[in-house]
Amino acid sequence: MNPIDLHSHSTASDGLLDPAAVVRRAADRGVEVLALTDHDEVCGLLEARSAAEERGIRLIDGTEISVTWRDTTVHVVGLGIDPHEPGLLEGLQSIRAGRDDRAKRMGESLAQAGIVGAYEGALRLAASPRLISRTHFARFLVERGICRELKDVFRRYLTPGKPGYVRHAWATLQQAVGLIRGAGGTPVLAHPGRCRISQTAMRSLLGEFSDHGGSAIEVVTSNHTPAQAEAFAALARQFGLAASCGSDFHGPGESWVDLGGVPPLAPGLKPVWHSWA
Ligand code: AMP
Ligand code: MN
Ligand code: MN
Ligand code: MN
Repeated sequence: MNPIDLHSHSTASDGLLDPAAVVRRAADRGVEVLALTDHDEVCGLLEARSAAEERGIRLIDGTEISVTWRDTTVHVVGLGIDPHEPGLLEGLQSIRAGRDDRAKRMGESLAQAGIVGAYEGALRLAASPRLISRTHFARFLVERGICRELKDVFRRYLTPGKPGYVRHAWATLQQAVGLIRGAGGTPVLAHPGRCRISQTAMRSLLGEFSDHGGSAIEVVTSNHTPAQAEAFAALARQFGLAASCGSDFHGPGESWVDLGGVPPLAPGLKPVWHSWA
C-alpha cells in the first residue's frame, strides 16, 4: 500500500467510477493524498473535493493532457492546478473538441473492418458525453464479445496500423506544459515507459519537457516494470526532475493495480510533493 496516489481517472473521462466513488475507494484503501487526473478535463474535481472533505483525505486537483510529440502521443499530468483558471479551461476545451470527430472516424474505420455501430456504442458507454475516448470503444468491443479484455482490443484494434486507429493532433508539449504552469500546477510526464520511442528520443523528450517548464516524471506507475522504474529514476536524477507515483486507476477489475497499489518511490529521488505546501 502506498498512501500517495497521484494519477487516477473517473467518469469525467474514461474511468468507471464517478469522482466521489474514486475518492471514497481511495480513502477505504488507505490513500491519504489522491490526485484525480482525468484526460483533458477537470469537471470531476468539484464532486471529488466534497467527497475528500467528507472522508478527510487530501485531494490534489489534477488533469492529464494529451500531447502529440514527434508523431507519438505522450501524456502530461498536471498536479495542483487551479481548476477555475480560464486559460486552462479554454485550452482543455479545445483539446477535447476534436474527440467527437475523431470518434466518428474511428467508428467508420471499424465499420470497414466489419464492426458496425461502434461510435454509437462507445458514446453510450461514455458517462460524460463531453469526452469520448478509445477506452469507450474498447469496452464496447468487449461488450460485443469481439475481444475478451481491453488489452486484447488495443492489440488488435485502435492502435497504429490496426482497424479503428485514427491519427490525431493533440496539444503540443509546450502548450500542455504552459497550460499547467499557467494554472499554477506542476507538469509531470506520465508513464514514460509507455512511450514507444528510442532511448535517444526519450532523452530529447525529457530535455524539451524540462526546457518548456516540465518539472517531474512518473517513476512509479502501474505499467512500469521494476527495471523501468529504476531506469526512469536514473533519468529523473540526470535531468533534475522530481519524481511522482500513481496507479493510473480506471476502474475495479480494469486496471493493473488498484488505488494506492503502486510501490513507494525509491530513496534518493526528489518526490514531487516536497515542493507543495
Ligand atoms: P485516447 O485518449 O482516446 O487515445 O485513449 C487513451 C486511453 O486508452 C488511455 O488513457 C488508456 O486508458 C487506454 N489504453 C491505451 N492503451 C491501452 C491498453 N493497451 N490497455 C488498456 N487501455 C489502454
Ligand atoms: Mn485512460
Ligand atoms: Mn495516460
Ligand atoms: Mn491516465
